[in-house]
Amino acid sequence: MSYELNDKIKNLVPYEPIAGNYSIRLDANECTFGYDNMLMDMVDTAVHNVDFNRYPDPVCLELRKSFADFYGIDYKNVTVGNGSDELIFLIESAFLKKGDKLLTAVPDFSMYEFYGSITENPCERYNKDENLNIDVDKLIEKINSENIKALIFSNPCNPTGQGITKSEAEKLIKSVNALVVLDEAYMDFYSPEHSLIKDVNDYDNLIIFRTASKALGSAALRLGFAVANETVSRAISAVKSPYNVNSISQAIGTQLYKNKDFLNNRIKTIVENTKTLYNELKELEAKVEDFKVYPTKTNFVFVKTAFSKELWEYLKAQSIAIRWMGEYIRITSGTAEEINTTIKAINEFLSER
Ligand SMILES: *Cc1c(COP(=O)(O)O)cnc(C)c1O
Repeated sequence: MSYELNDKIKNLVPYEPIAGNYSIRLDANECTFGYDNMLMDMVDTAVHNVDFNRYPDPVCLELRKSFADFYGIDYKNVTVGNGSDELIFLIESAFLKKGDKLLTAVPDFSMYEFYGSITENPCERYNKDENLNIDVDKLIEKINSENIKALIFSNPCNPTGQGITKSEAEKLIKSVNALVVLDEAYMDFYSPEHSLIKDVNDYDNLIIFRTASKALGSAALRLGFAVANETVSRAISAVKSPYNVNSISQAIGTQLYKNKDFLNNRIKTIVENTKTLYNELKELEAKVEDFKVYPTKTNFVFVKTAFSKELWEYLKAQSIAIRWMGEYIRITSGTAEEINTTIKAINEFLSER
């Protein structure tokens, strides 16, 4: 008797985030600021009131209400996942039939394609232009001519930092006979004007993702949100595992979203710091050959350079973690001091070359 791992999983290796202790972590697009005393007091109270002997609320009612109130939407349009990651897997496996074509726009978040390979849905690719932008008309043409059943992309995009406008997104959704999954993980840094989170009831082919992991500074909680019309929301809720979000995360998340002014001010600070990081890198671009800095609508800056790997290794040796992605590097915004130290180290690297 024997069992052999099938082809799609045989050669997979578990996801490995950068290991080790770094004094500066600018590699994972997390919020650089931890919980302050006010939030820690909130955590104490929330955790204290959890019924540890009971299963969590399967529909996350209080958390959905709090999230919906923060963004000015109806909680009936919201379903909660164990991070957006769970939702990506769930949508790709349940909303596509076996063999249905999935489309991604590359470069984009790598998990979209990865889960497609597990669910056995062929993944087509739309290639972005040299400035890493999406031409919406070309994208529509591809979806309609190639019988694509679902498109998933991030807006604004990780890792490129680019974003399409609300009117472009509307045109896209209205012009295709396919499900459009719009991952707005970084929309808090871009602009509420370009979000479709308030418009989901106008569409039967739209799902929006939000997360507590980035602007909300709560990656540890694993909270992702799918926003869609009530029919689609009911379907997501029906296919998810009943107790996917634990009671501790629900309790803390519910209180977290009530701190509107605090959260919005912190987002403002992150956006300002990202601008500083961008400006500093842009100054280097003017002085250094082969160093292209892309504009950003997120909390990180994407750079194309022939010496990406050397720079990544140099910074790692200085205990500064950034993300290396082939011919690109991605640097998450940090505190003013972290940015300062990182720019200084990049300057050192450049002068030693
Ligand atoms: C970080 C990120 C997420 C968030 O995932 P979680 O599982 O909610 O932490 C989702 N989409 C994109 C594109 C991201 O970069």
